[in-house]
Amino acid sequence: MALTIGIIGLPQSGKTTLFNALTKAGAPISGYATSTVQANMAIVQVPDARLQPLAEIFNPHKVTPTTVEFVDVAGMGQSEQSGKEKQGLSAEFLGHIRNADALAIVLRTFVNDNVPHIYQNIDPYRDLESLNAELSLTDLASVERRLERTNRAAKSGDKKYQQELETLRHLQNELNELKLVSQLDITSQDQALLSELFLLTAKPRMYVLNVSEDVLGAANDLLNKIASGEDVEVASLQGELASIARVALQAKNERAEVVAVSARLEAELSELPEEDAHEYLESLGLPQLGADRVIQVGYRLLNLITFLTAGEDEVRAWTVTRGAKAPEAAGKIHSDIERGFIRAEVISFDDFMACGSFAAATKKGLLRLEGKEYVIKDGDIAHFRFNVAK
Ligand code: GDP
Repeated sequence: MALTIGIIGLPQSGKTTLFNALTKAGAPISGYATSTVQANMAIVQVPDARLQPLAEIFNPHKVTPTTVEFVDVAGMGQSEQSGKEKQGLSAEFLGHIRNADALAIVLRTFVNDNVPHIYQNIDPYRDLESLNAELSLTDLASVERRLERTNRAAKSGDKKYQQELETLRHLQNELNELKLVSQLDITSQDQALLSELFLLTAKPRMYVLNVSEDVLGAANDLLNKIASGEDVEVASLQGELASIARVALQAKNERAEVVAVSARLEAELSELPEEDAHEYLESLGLPQLGADRVIQVGYRLLNLITFLTAGEDEVRAWTVTRGAKAPEAAGKIHSDIERGFIRAEVISFDDFMACGSFAAATKKGLLRLEGKEYVIKDGDIAHFRFNVAK
């Protein structure tokens, strides 16, 4: 099953606009808060700067990037909107994000009087706290349901339930304080229980700051500074940049990723032919499409890496989970290749580019033969030898 990144955020934060930019799928954009739960799903290509140089060498019939799945779910912040007491999220909404493997949390920092905010003013840090509270309360409900079950089971006297009860009570206490499960120390023993609970605050997350177009460059500089540990005087910042810094510092604390985009600009750029879009980006002094960054960071969040295959027929990127061994990678191409795996011929992308061909790489002894235990690395170019008895 494909790994999925769920896009969540308050209504009107720009989720759908971002989703459109990611996928160019043309999902309808509303100028008002959506009241029903709708989900858009899309499989998007993962930009990979290694494909083009390989294509120039092999001149293949086809170049195939690898993909990752995003799902855009409308429907958070509903409890505030309807004035109901907060009780976590609706079942329908949850069905969509429970199964996501990571979350992209969109936070609005852009200012636009024509786009109402459910809390009236712009404050992404407050929005984040509010979203986190909803997620924590939802997790609390899941933990409490499980607690009831485990309590009943523990009455049989079976010891294994005691440990589970302890863990669940610990989670219950922390979630009651609106903590994120991802920030707790969880023993490997408890990990198994966690994976059964599908808790929302345990998922890896990235923050996507939807910033005003005119602060995009400054926002990127600021995020880079904060990420690299440079001292940033938040008190000297004003307006949008101050609130961006606040979220970025929080993200750093949580070891979460943070990316600044202008969703509207991205959506406009995604309408342009690729070359024009890049020219326009350059003219704005931006190194890369924000949508591409979101996809790449999302891919990393999912703990995925890319290996490559290259030949005259096709240059192609493939996805495996970090830590996968050679036969598993072979299985991505075809189950027969995994079944009949003999060995892999492997070279790193950089070594290959330095040689320019497999023949030159072989001469230099850089094309390695690896066996079943070899752990695939990001950027490996692999060719698998296999034999399947007829
Ligand atoms: P969602 O409810 O989170 O899916 O938000 P939408 O993507 O539907 O966006 C809500 C409104 O905000 C729409 O009218 C968008 O045109 C507008 N919007 C979204 N992103 C931006 C942005 O980056 N800048 C500005 N100025 N407006 C935006």
